[in-house]
Amino acid sequence: MNHAELRRELHTLHLELPKNALVAWTSGNVSARVSVDGMGDHMLIKPSGVTFEDLLPESMVLTDMNAQVLEGDLSPSSDTATHAYIYRHLPEVGGIVHTHSPYATAWAANAREIPCFLTAMADEFGGPIPCGNFALIGGEQIGAEVVRVLRGHRSPAIILQNHGVFTIGKTPRAALKAAVMAEDVARTAFLAMQLGTPVPIAQADIDSLYDRYTNVYGQQQATSTGEAP
Ligand SMILES: [Zn+2]
Repeated sequence: MNHAELRRELHTLHLELPKNALVAWTSGNVSARVSVDGMGDHMLIKPSGVTFEDLLPESMVLTDMNAQVLEGDLSPSSDTATHAYIYRHLPEVGGIVHTHSPYATAWAANAREIPCFLTAMADEFGGPIPCGNFALIGGEQIGAEVVRVLRGHRSPAIILQNHGVFTIGKTPRAALKAAVMAEDVARTAFLAMQLGTPVPIAQADIDSLYDRYTNVYGQQQATSTGEAP
């Protein structure tokens, strides 16, 4: 995707956040890694404090991987330093989504990982969605916690204690899919717990579900990381 296409794609993906009830008011953001020939990597990210209905493809802010603005009249999202840290440390990541989606964030408020009660969750996340430690907003603490937990992890999603959800993917669309799925399983796991004691899936079955979804199913359809093996 070229730069202009990526701006349009990011605009489209941002509109999916309110449509899927993942955000309130201006919270939540999507970013994309942009590779510029001979200039290294940059990122496109949502501007700070702009409502989703007022966003335009050209409102997206281009920054370098130290969160310095290169192009754009608006200030970038206050989460830009976090996104930049993740891109710098996880070179395979091409897109990042951050939300405070309500069910997943309710688990985060309890500092509890989301247990793997559902086959769809074993497929998509390869097990529970991990919960990272508390980290202060503004600097690089959040990015460092996301990288510490997700590096080498099967799950493309993490919930952060007392905060919300970060998801990563090969593309911004794959990261968005993970954000939608994370909220869906957080909600179902919550509902299941209202009915009684949900039954966990055995680790060997989780492994086999994840393997089938990633290596077999993935040949016809992009996986959660957007990767067709
Ligand atoms: Zn946040």
